[in-house]
Amino acid sequence: MRRVYNAAYALLEEQGINSIPIKVREIAEKLGIKVKVTDLGSEVSGVLLLDDNDPIIGVSNLEGPERQRFSIAHEIAHYRLHSKDVDVDQKMFVDKKNMKVMFRKQDFSQREFRREREANAFAAALLMPEQNLFEDVKAVYNDNPNLTDEKLIYELASLYEVSGLAMSYRLSNLGFV
Ligand SMILES: [Zn+2]
Repeated sequence: MRRVYNAAYALLEEQGINSIPIKVREIAEKLGIKVKVTDLGSEVSGVLLLDDNDPIIGVSNLEGPERQRFSIAHEIAHYRLHSKDVDVDQKMFVDKKNMKVMFRKQDFSQREFRREREANAFAAALLMPEQNLFEDVKAVYNDNPNLTDEKLIYELASLYEVSGLAMSYRLSNLGFV
């Protein structure tokens, strides 16, 4: 996933962004992607529509702001990493709320599985960049690191405007927990 993380950091650098919380909607708009919070039904959390030169990200109005931010970051990942695959003639990415359900489906191909994992990793890196997180973990936990303390995980999560779950996965992936 290092390649994917680096792609996220490259995008932040490209746009000169280094402060928290990451303004993910602005990132999309600077890439020329319109973002709409809209009714996507009860099962879909986010979509990326690649219509000619007018890409659109749709996020569900039923989700909370943290989930919406993650969905926007996830769709930016599809745009940056997957929309220009020469062997892919895909005009639309649709993300369901419960991806685990999708993963069990037989028709969920190996490539789609990989792409979803990459989009989630990219989104996590974009919203919770390693460098910021290392500094903030040090600041929040002081000299008494207790990374199983949920209160502290939520404190970090609210700093980054991500869900507690997303933060705790990220801390775990970076080897903090
Ligand atoms: Zn996806």
